[in-house]
Parts: sequence; structure tokens; C-alpha cells
Amino acid sequence: MAKNTTQKLFTDPVVAGLRAGERKATVLLHESLDAIDARNKRVNAYLSVAREHATARAAEIDAMAPAERGKLRLAGLPCGIKDVLTVEGLPATASSRILKGYQPPYTATAVQKLIDAGAVIVGKLNCDEFAMGSSNENSAYGVVRNPHGEDRVPGGSSGGSAAAVAAGMAPVTLGTDTGGSIRQPAAFCGVVGVLPTYGRVSRYGLIAFASSLDRVGPLAGNVRDAAEVLGVIAGHDVMDATSSTAPVPDYTEGLDKGVKGMRLGVPAEYFGEGLDPEVREAVEGTIARLKAEGAEVKPISLPHTRYAVPTYYVIATAEASANLARFDGVRYGFRAPEAETLAQMYRKTRDLGFGAEVKRRILLGTYVLSAGYYDAYYKKAQQVRRLLAQDFLNAFAEVDAIVTPTTPTPAFKIGEKSDDPLAMYLADIYTVTANLAGICGASVPCGVSKDGLPIGIQILGKHFDEATVLRVGQAVERLQETA
Ligand code: GLN
Repeated sequence: MAKNTTQKLFTDPVVAGLRAGERKATVLLHESLDAIDARNKRVNAYLSVAREHATARAAEIDAMAPAERGKLRLAGLPCGIKDVLTVEGLPATASSRILKGYQPPYTATAVQKLIDAGAVIVGKLNCDEFAMGSSNENSAYGVVRNPHGEDRVPGGSSGGSAAAVAAGMAPVTLGTDTGGSIRQPAAFCGVVGVLPTYGRVSRYGLIAFASSLDRVGPLAGNVRDAAEVLGVIAGHDVMDATSSTAPVPDYTEGLDKGVKGMRLGVPAEYFGEGLDPEVREAVEGTIARLKAEGAEVKPISLPHTRYAVPTYYVIATAEASANLARFDGVRYGFRAPEAETLAQMYRKTRDLGFGAEVKRRILLGTYVLSAGYYDAYYKKAQQVRRLLAQDFLNAFAEVDAIVTPTTPTPAFKIGEKSDDPLAMYLADIYTVTANLAGICGASVPCGVSKDGLPIGIQILGKHFDEATVLRVGQAVERLQETA
């Protein structure tokens, strides 16, 4: 049986305390580095650690005059970064062999905003190769283990980002979510993960998987710290034409207002066959308690939900096949030796550089985009995507937020699904819809299984209504404290 080996870490917010000088950046960083020294060998969350740079930067922040530090919204906050985001001076592998040795010459906008706000970058975090996966078993640099049970997966693809927070290796991390990769590992590791609305956070400097679905967002030990970080990374960026110019609110304001009078939709389609009884009990119990706090709970229907997984795997693979064409051995990272012609060099580099799951997706994506099949698969998937988005628009005419389980089961065992891609794809059944629809959401811990494994509740919100999602999340978090 999986043993719960992790005490609750970073469940108390740290950002405001750092800003006020009540908490020391150096102390928090040392705690994170100690946890890395103690557990990273086994958990394998970090691929690289910027120890010296981080230590120097934390000391600098602690030495600042209070007025100066107070201006930095994330003064001294240690942050880990998923290895699909570029940081100048640090490697970026996307957990692929094909990017081994690649040093990006620029920093992703979301990371630059963290740095400008005073955050301390601790290092780069393991993930599934090119963010393709639901278990973090697809990394070329080894699987990540779930800190709550080391025989379990941490979820994916941002498994390193979730495991790092759960193991105390950083109070906050950045992840990315194309079909669930922030929310699903957050649920499996018992931390908070936020999916911002499409366009809310710049994708500049994110190594693209599926550009119409990819999002960058925070993972943290509590809702308030996640809200602080989202407020910093959100906003328009001239380097990303799809980033929104909508003003960024203060996400910490109104966080404690509670759910009284709020209309929460519960979609029948997310509570059907395949839902683990313990997950059901934890999520339904949480919804009942939100109702007791004054929320109006309404049954709703999202009728096209059953088409979401196939639609996602057509669109995501199509976009991936195009995005991954740039990795050819010429421009970045690894180049296969011993090729005699240019074409052979491309082929050998891609053959040796990409792992099995990435190849499977390039093949599938190329197929659904090919001349004879485009209309039958890709175009059809785009049409169904529209219907899925419309389901949500209809629902949000009647409710303020939607609550569902984040995942059908708690964290599964390492190896349990790795030979069965279809079973693995079903791990995303409750999360891919939000990416297809462009809406925002979050996963917040709402219980623990009898094996000591965390369970998450998913909260989905209207486009650009992260504030409501976070407010519901905060209410869920408070329920945990009083449980
Ligand atoms: N698990 C999904 C996939 O493998 C989602 C991944 C993600 O969100 N990056 O495509």
C-alpha cells in the first residue's frame, strides 16, 4: 500500500510574508534546497538546479530595504520552472533527448515576469517529453515519483512541477496545461494548480506542443500563493499575438468572499462510469459542504463531453506534428552522428532524439492532416470543438462556475498504464474539455483516499473569470482546514 510520506507543506501562504519581510527568502530557499538534497534523487522532480544563482539572489532580496522589497510582488519567492519553458542561462530539454545540451538564448515571458517581480528561480523541472503524457513516465530523463507514494505516478505532464511543491522543493512552480497537465498532476500530488484562460498568460518562450491549447500556469501549496503568481504572469505580451489585452485584476482581492449565493453547476457527464468511488465521495462531499455554505448547486449538462478525448487527440496531435517539425538536428540540441546525407541526418536525429510517445503523436497528427483524411478527422474535430465550447457557454449562462472531479482515479501505479496509450489518454477525460473550450479552471485538494493519496476537485470558470475560480478554490481549501 502506498504510504503517505509527506506532511502538508506550503499550505500556509508565503508570498505576502516575503513581501512584508516577515519571512526570509534565504530561509525558504534553503528549506527548498534541503528538500531537493533529501529527496530529489528518488522523486526526480528537478532536472537541473541553479543553486548558486538562486542563493545569491535570495540573499540580495533579504538585504533590500523594506520599501524597495515591498515593491516586488514576489520578493524572494523560490520558483521551479517546467523544462518546456526557456530561461536564459539554464538548459531547456522539454525532457527530450533531442534537446539535450540546448541552452536557449532568451527567457519565456512568464518566467521573466516572475524574475522582474523578485522571484528566485530554483531550477528546471522534469515533465513528460514535450509535455505529452499523463503520468510523467515519458521523460527521457526518468520517471518522476509521487511524493505521497513513491510507487505512484505524480501525474503529467507537469509531474515535476507538482511533485516539487508536494515534496517541499519549491513553494511555487510553473507548469503548462494543454489537456490537463497542470490540473491532473496537481490533483495527484495534493497541490493547487491553475489553468488560466487561453490568452491570459503569454506563451512566448514555451516550447510549443499544441499552440491552440497550450497554457502556462502556477502550481502552489495553497490558493492564495497561486493567485499572487497568476497576477504577476498574466497580461498582454507583444511577443505573443494571442495574448489578451484585457486588464489583469488583483486575484487576491475577494478571495475570501466565500461561495454564498454563488451558482455552482454540476455536470452529470463528469460523474458517470469509470469514476472511482473514493474520488466520487470526496468530490460530492465537498460540493455538499459548499452548498451548506450557501452556494446554489445546480445540475447541468455538457452533452458533447463524450467526444472530448477523441477530439483532443486529433487536434493536439495535428498541431504537435507541425510544431515538432523544427527539431531536425540543424537548429537545436542533439544531432545524430554518422549521417551521410542531409535527409539521413534529419531522419536519424529524429529517430534517436524523440521517444515513443512523441513519435506516435507525430504519426497520428500527420495522418489526420493528410490530404485524404483532413476533412474526416481534423476538420470534423474542429467542428466538434466548437460544440464543446458551446456546451460551456450555454452552461455559464446559468451558473458562475462548474465543479467536477479533476481525475477519474487517484494517482495510479508507475507502469500500470504505460503499455496502454488509450487507457492513459482516458486519464484526461475531465480536463481536456476546458482546453478545447478556452476557459479557465483549477484543481484544489479536496480529500485523501484510504491509501493516503490526494484527491482533487476541478473548478471551471468563464473566459477570463479566474477570480471566481480562485474564490471557489479558496472556499474548498478552507473546508479542508476545518475537516
Ligand atoms: N495528458 C495530455 C496529453 O498527453 C495532456 C498533456 C498536457 O496537458 N500537456 O496530451
